[in-house]
Amino acid sequence: MKVIVVSGGVISGLGKGITTSSLGRLLKARGIPVTIIKIDPYLNVDAGTMNPYQHGEVFVLDDGTEVDLDLGNYERFLGQSLVGTHNLTTGKIYRSVIEKERRGDYLGNTVQIIPHVTGEIKRTIREVAQSSGAEVVLVEVGGTVGDIESMPFLEALRELSYELGEGHMAFVHTTLVPVVGPVGESKTKPTQHSVRELRAIGIRPNLIVARGPSPLSPDIKAKISLFCDVPPEGVISIPDQPVIYEVPLVLEAQGVGTFLSRLLNLPERPPDYGSWKEFLATYRRGDNSIEVAVVGKYTELRDAYLSHTEAFHHCQGHLGVEVRLQWYDAEDIPKSPSVLARIERSDAVLVPGGFGARGVEGKVRAIEVARTRGIPFLGVCYGFQMAAVEHARNVLGLAAAHTTEIEADTKDPVVCLLEAQKGQTDLGGTMRLGAQRVQLVEGSRVAQIYGKTEIWERHRHRFEINPAYVDRFEATGLRVTGRAVDGRVEVLETADHPFFLGVQYHPEFLSRPEAPHPLYLALVRAAMARKEVASPVAPAPALA
Ligand code: GLN
Repeated sequence: MKVIVVSGGVISGLGKGITTSSLGRLLKARGIPVTIIKIDPYLNVDAGTMNPYQHGEVFVLDDGTEVDLDLGNYERFLGQSLVGTHNLTTGKIYRSVIEKERRGDYLGNTVQIIPHVTGEIKRTIREVAQSSGAEVVLVEVGGTVGDIESMPFLEALRELSYELGEGHMAFVHTTLVPVVGPVGESKTKPTQHSVRELRAIGIRPNLIVARGPSPLSPDIKAKISLFCDVPPEGVISIPDQPVIYEVPLVLEAQGVGTFLSRLLNLPERPPDYGSWKEFLATYRRGDNSIEVAVVGKYTELRDAYLSHTEAFHHCQGHLGVEVRLQWYDAEDIPKSPSVLARIERSDAVLVPGGFGARGVEGKVRAIEVARTRGIPFLGVCYGFQMAAVEHARNVLGLAAAHTTEIEADTKDPVVCLLEAQKGQTDLGGTMRLGAQRVQLVEGSRVAQIYGKTEIWERHRHRFEINPAYVDRFEATGLRVTGRAVDGRVEVLETADHPFFLGVQYHPEFLSRPEAPHPLYLALVRAAMARKEVASPVAPAPALA
């Protein structure tokens, strides 16, 4: 078992997740089986109960675990699916320690952070390493070194490195090198301080990844090397990139692959990036552009819709057409007609998932514009449910139609609570979650897009389309073209429209740079057709 720990210093939000994902990709390109674990030192058991404004989007795995958005980055960079045990939180660790204490597993002992909590952390990491079959496990430690919350995790990792012995573990420390003053001087002092903090815990970094707006000059690299006791080739600069998928190549160009291989006694092989480089070359072409309006309610924090943004990046890397996202706060729509007029000029509209009343009426209005003006539209989860509400109100003439999530006593509950949710009082981890099988109707638009009639997609919802309204939807042009095995409605589409599709599930979680999601590709293609722009790239072979 080989482990690479990625910690962060100075400030959060340095792109530690991207650094970790890129290091993983670097090893994978050398044919080394890798996996990644994220440590989130907060007390929540999982990310599911957190507001997206606090930590960004809640990502959902196949097994239904609601996790930190970094796991989405890991899946996208590695091109492999992960399971819930790959997101370790203080909440999970404490819960299992306390359960063990109650069972009497520690009978006679005083249960303490060291060795019991740290022991549980090490046990979990070893277990994940073993069950994943990976040769190298990357462990990203959330937060910033020096935080009280992350101390037990760093102590556990220090112990682990001692236990595994020389040549089995590497520590990578990501820091900020700010550029200040009139001449734009790069400052290394914050890095020196945070490395000192790390060393006080007993961890000596092997590699320092300096983040900043521009590349580090050789003398600044030399300075960090000397003051932080890291060899010069262990000081790596990651300047801001136009697209995150460049980062593995930025690391590669500075010899990180060779450096890590030597440090961990891994076989030294030349890297093979396969279609990764092709993806980047196409991405950079972007001669033409299309504009997609994203109508949501967490639009001030882009990370709240990270997987959607990435799914569109993946399309750009395959079609060679720049996909510009225009963010609209759904709450502004009813207040100002000019917002709706701008959405009307977009080449496509996406209404993503969400919860609660805020912004709902704006979403319904945006969907109406997309439907009546023939603008390509994709509704995801709440966006799909709102498409049903819009149709019921404006086509069926049921003015009071709504979801019972907002109006419990509405006369026309076109979206209602899932049967299994009735009586559910706990909010953590209790939605209909994770990968579920969906059967598509032969010959439907959605089946054509996927090129098959059986799919697996990830879910996260409590409400569903009320089956009592389906006949009326179908009779008025809104067809059910996808259902779960138990018959629940999963896909709605309109035939007499260039592209109008709603899905109960979250396709954004499955899109990857080397395998963009077919629904996003289809939406972008429809937008290109509307704007009459052609892709400079030969069409990809049909999906398997
Ligand atoms: N609030 C809706 C539900 O719970 C939609 C959820 C979502 O968009 N993820 O069903």
